[in-house]
Amino acid sequence: MNTRTKEAIRYLGYGSRAVDDKTLALVLESFDELDRVAEKRIIYRIFPLTAPETDWLRIDNLKIHSRNLSRNLRGCEKAVLLGATLGIQTDRLLKRYSYTDMARAVVLQACAAAVLEENLDRWQTALKEQMKEEGYYLRPRFSPGYGDFSIEHQGEILRMLDSAKRIGLSMTGGNMLAPTKSVTAVIGMGRNDVPCPAGGCECCGKDDCLYRRG
Ligand code: SF4
Repeated sequence: MNTRTKEAIRYLGYGSRAVDDKTLALVLESFDELDRVAEKRIIYRIFPLTAPETDWLRIDNLKIHSRNLSRNLRGCEKAVLLGATLGIQTDRLLKRYSYTDMARAVVLQACAAAVLEENLDRWQTALKEQMKEEGYYLRPRFSPGYGDFSIEHQGEILRMLDSAKRIGLSMTGGNMLAPTKSVTAVIGMGRNDVPCPAGGCECCGKDDCLYRRG
């Protein structure tokens, strides 16, 4: 079973239980559909980062109060702001199934989340190699809404990325992203070689790490 299939099954709440054949078939069919319709896009920009006060960060003109993010970005000089989406066709497919086949819609939601993460992991691995050549090391992705990093910063991040114009990624009321299968995040860039795995702090065994998020 490949990583994205395992992830989708985990999102469906199976934990350590074995997935039944019917659900597994739905998962594989959903990935096939997503491979056909998803318009995967990622944009990013790199900004200077400072920490003017305890638990405060400044990314260009964006001021953030967050203890969790401050810890994760400790020692970083720059921050990558990113926006990623699977596009509007994925939303249309999800909507169609939510009217006609709820079980399939639920599985498709989980698969779409796994595809979005897989695409980001792949992109981040390439960025990590590129930045290493410039002497920078990347911290794990940290999204608004995680820990005490307020979801309200999502709008400012989208504006700084000019994401509506560049990839059609915008925000509706209540800080919801449109298209829905999208994400924004911050990645710290520092000179310290912190050995962060692609899956981030949740799957990292470095329990004593100074930068652990959450
Ligand atoms: S706990 Fe692991 S993944 Fe998280 S910042 Fe430290 S080294 Fe990186």
